[in-house]
Amino acid sequence: MSANAVNLRDFIRDIPDYPKPGINFKDITPLLADGDAFGACVSELACYIPSDTNFIVGIESRGFLFGAALAQLTGLGFIPVRKPGKLPADVHAIEYELEYGMDRLEIHRDALSKGQKVVVVDDLLATGGTAKATIDLVEQLGAEVAACLFVIELSFLNGRERLNHTPIHHLLAY
Ligand code: AMP
Repeated sequence: MSANAVNLRDFIRDIPDYPKPGINFKDITPLLADGDAFGACVSELACYIPSDTNFIVGIESRGFLFGAALAQLTGLGFIPVRKPGKLPADVHAIEYELEYGMDRLEIHRDALSKGQKVVVVDDLLATGGTAKATIDLVEQLGAEVAACLFVIELSFLNGRERLNHTPIHHLLAY
């Protein structure tokens, strides 16, 4: 099958009430399991990467799957943003608010330097808290986020409003 014949929406599975009641989880594992669909997805995401981008920044954990594939396709390097305690070297951390409580993300302090441009990748944009924290981490290291890319955007949650000055792109909106 040629890449442009793939309808990515056919490869996203809804899992109602996961991981808790009231959440409709968008499961991307059927997309990953289909070579044509995964390839088409990564090729489509690559179209949104500005030519002067230095790195792909992937958000743990599903952002690693798409981000690393995208980095390989484009020849760019990959930088992970991880949950607390996972990165071995000196980290820069940010705390951000969840609906109930706080969460924390970390990046290696020496991963980026002033003036570098990155594209942030995750599987899904919901309320925007995770992406906003990642943008702040990158900017606090002196680098710039040229764009944020998501396979899926849950538009009804208005997450992009929190990412005001950053260009946002998705492949599928719900
Ligand atoms: P948020 O910070 O609210 O934008 O949430 C985004 C993060 O949570 C992403 O890393 C997603 O993988 C995950 N996430 C949030 N809501 C969902 C959902 N309905 N289905 C799958 N993943 C989700």
